[in-house]
Amino acid sequence: MSEHSDIKTTPGGFHCTLCNVSLPNSASLDQHLKGKKHQTLSGVRATRKTQEDHSVFVGGINPDISQTDLAEYFQQFGSVADVIIDKDKGVYAIVQFSETDSIQAALSCIEHKLKGLKLRVKPREKKNFKLIPKKKNDPKNLQQVLDRLKPDLCQLVSVNAQMQHVVEQFQLGENEKNARSLLVQLMQEIFVEFFPDSQILPFGSSVNTFGIHSCDLDLFLDLENTKVFQAHAKSTTEQPGEGVSDDGRSEDSILSDIDLSTATPAEVLDLVAMILKRCVPSVHKVHVVSSARLPVVKFHHRELNLQGDITINNRLAVRNTRFLQLCSGIDERLRPLVYTIRYWAKQKQLAGNPSGSGPLLNNYALTLLIIFFLQNCEPPVLPTVDQLKDLACEEEECVIEGWNCTFPSQPIAVPPSKNTQQLCTLLAGFFSFYANFDFASSVISVREGRALPITDFLSQNKEDDALQQDQSTKTHQQRPKLGPLNLLDPFELSHNVAGNLNERCQRSFQRECQEAEKYCRSLQYQRKSTKGKSWGLVRLFSPDGEATPCKTGQLTISIPFKSASLPERLRDELHAAGDGFRLLWFQRVCSAVEEVLKNVLKCHLAPSKDAVFGEDSSISAEEMETTQASVISSLSDSFDGAEAQIEASPLGTVVIGGKRPLSSGSDASVSPQGKKPRMARRGKPELPAWMCMQKHVVWAGRRKVKRELIKDADSRPEGSCVELESQVTACIIEKEPELKEPLQFNVQPQMLGGTESTRAVLKLEPSSDKTGVFQDFFHFLEAFLPKMVETLKLMYDPGGHDICDPS
Ligand code: ATP
Ligand code: MG
Repeated sequence: MSEHSDIKTTPGGFHCTLCNVSLPNSASLDQHLKGKKHQTLSGVRATRKTQEDHSVFVGGINPDISQTDLAEYFQQFGSVADVIIDKDKGVYAIVQFSETDSIQAALSCIEHKLKGLKLRVKPREKKNFKLIPKKKNDPKNLQQVLDRLKPDLCQLVSVNAQMQHVVEQFQLGENEKNARSLLVQLMQEIFVEFFPDSQILPFGSSVNTFGIHSCDLDLFLDLENTKVFQAHAKSTTEQPGEGVSDDGRSEDSILSDIDLSTATPAEVLDLVAMILKRCVPSVHKVHVVSSARLPVVKFHHRELNLQGDITINNRLAVRNTRFLQLCSGIDERLRPLVYTIRYWAKQKQLAGNPSGSGPLLNNYALTLLIIFFLQNCEPPVLPTVDQLKDLACEEEECVIEGWNCTFPSQPIAVPPSKNTQQLCTLLAGFFSFYANFDFASSVISVREGRALPITDFLSQNKEDDALQQDQSTKTHQQRPKLGPLNLLDPFELSHNVAGNLNERCQRSFQRECQEAEKYCRSLQYQRKSTKGKSWGLVRLFSPDGEATPCKTGQLTISIPFKSASLPERLRDELHAAGDGFRLLWFQRVCSAVEEVLKNVLKCHLAPSKDAVFGEDSSISAEEMETTQASVISSLSDSFDGAEAQIEASPLGTVVIGGKRPLSSGSDASVSPQGKKPRMARRGKPELPAWMCMQKHVVWAGRRKVKRELIKDADSRPEGSCVELESQVTACIIEKEPELKEPLQFNVQPQMLGGTESTRAVLKLEPSSDKTGVFQDFFHFLEAFLPKMVETLKLMYDPGGHDICDPS
């Protein structure tokens, strides 16, 4: 099969059917075709094809027939290259000839007899070569594990006992630990031959007390002393007694190939890979991944069925592993909590990226979230990293890459916690803590044991010394990469360990915490079922999300607050707004929504006083109250010292501070600092809401109209993409007939964010849809509105003109 037949053209570019990979353009396609994966698979396929073309299927044998018997018998038709007998039952075999002509000879023979058995000889079936991806996180496997655990868990008397049982079931056994440490020892002996004075140090879950049976073996190859050795050897070669170091060892040939003081990590790792391949027994599948944040050599150990990683610049990870070990020793409740929550997160597909990188939480980040929760219990279960630093003695002082990593080496140095809560209470507490955590406004600091305001991190390049360091540590050149979940490493304070998480995963994490929190309040969590039903952890672990009611049919459009993507000017404004930034942002969104509906899509808007949020509305009074309460509470939470007021504007929008309506696009309503929060509430506050009417199908055929407008230089609108979109609407209105009955719908924006990541949610509800077009319009708005709002919100200048690029 030629390579080109593997490539299909798709609307998004190309798709390689052999490797099951999509490629956006021909440059990436070329790269892919030359790449290792495609080349390997093509090679394997070619080998299989050759085998198929040279072999016959032989049925009717039995286990008494050996490979040699078959080889000898089939020699009469031509030279036999290989014989494969099916290993389970031994009832059929594949005989491979060296020449294809031999197949015909064997097939044309009418009867085949061997040791009294009549053999059936047939051509090989031609099978399409297909890549079957490995499924490391296969939900079926997880389900099997749970099925196995279930009966035992249900038998136990309490959730506490269940959590201990989870630890016992999953933790690394003594034999496994011994096997791993023997392998490390062997590698140490081998590596020191090539890299004198080097050290192999295990870190990660093999040694941090949270390891499970299948966990990988993370190794750090410390070459610091080897560098010193090499430098010394170099200086002595220039003198008599060449190439011999102080201790009599000659400079190894590998070290004569590479200068460790100047070599890149990838160059060093290539050598490490070569040593692994050639010198460590049972090690295979060795390859270097130099594109990772920390380049790594990956390998697999056949006998131990163990995946391993070797890194060379990872001293911080060795230290943070020691930190996790210390926490484990400080309070024995940490281990059962970590094992339980890790398993829960895996079941809910929140953690455990299949290939090590991906948008989910990794186990290290999840463990830090648990530690942070325990630091915030009342009274705390674990001390903060800063407190630990103060408990360390002088000899324990440790600075790595400029980061202060000091903490006591032994748990005995840390006073025991006064918190006496049971495991089951702490587990429920963890869910409740993160169910209600304000991720959008916070940066989690395990170092300080508190959530730092995100506004401290929003304004780039300013107040660079905002995070205080003592003199021995780094001053910050780099800031953490902000994302939907911000969790600072306890030591490398410029590193967000959850920086890989995407919006969806963060939301799922919080939603699952909310579900788990609810479940933990139920009797099924707290009490063993007398009828033998699932209870306690069993239901919590259930992966099918049965406890997650899905609100289908609700027509809402969500516009998330994305701190990372804001332009500098808006960041500065939000920064200046202090804790009130969320409301300021919501104001911007509301003005932009109104602008898009009114001016871009030419909807007729009526003030919300006329809006029909009546008895027949899907928005209940209770819901309204909740929303109002959440707006008010976020106002009072947010406005440190603002004289915030909420009242109805002519368009029914919220007015704050200087009583400017949201629709004005004003951003001047930010609080003066320094006063106590005070809320003035005149009558019943009204939320921003619009009653809209649309007489034309302005959502259909927009792309075509836009293309024509862009082509046609005369009528091409000058200015912004917003103007272009407005003109598209105008063209449609001009050309297309009116709807028989206008579509009428309500739009009600809400700000959610006190308990979840900040977002504006627009609830849409048709009040008159006689022509049945609302669903179509809604689907269009789902994509169009957030995109346009983003443009307007980001680009709106206080003068009232948007300034975005016409492209
Ligand atoms: P498991 O291998 O069972 O998933 P682990 O703790 O070993 O758990 P790895 O992803 O293998 O997790 O990472 C190994 C170690 O590397 C971690 O224990 C931690 O010390 C360090 N590490 C992992 N991810 C990060 C990160 N994002 N930031 C800093 N250190 C990390
Ligand atoms: Mg690991």
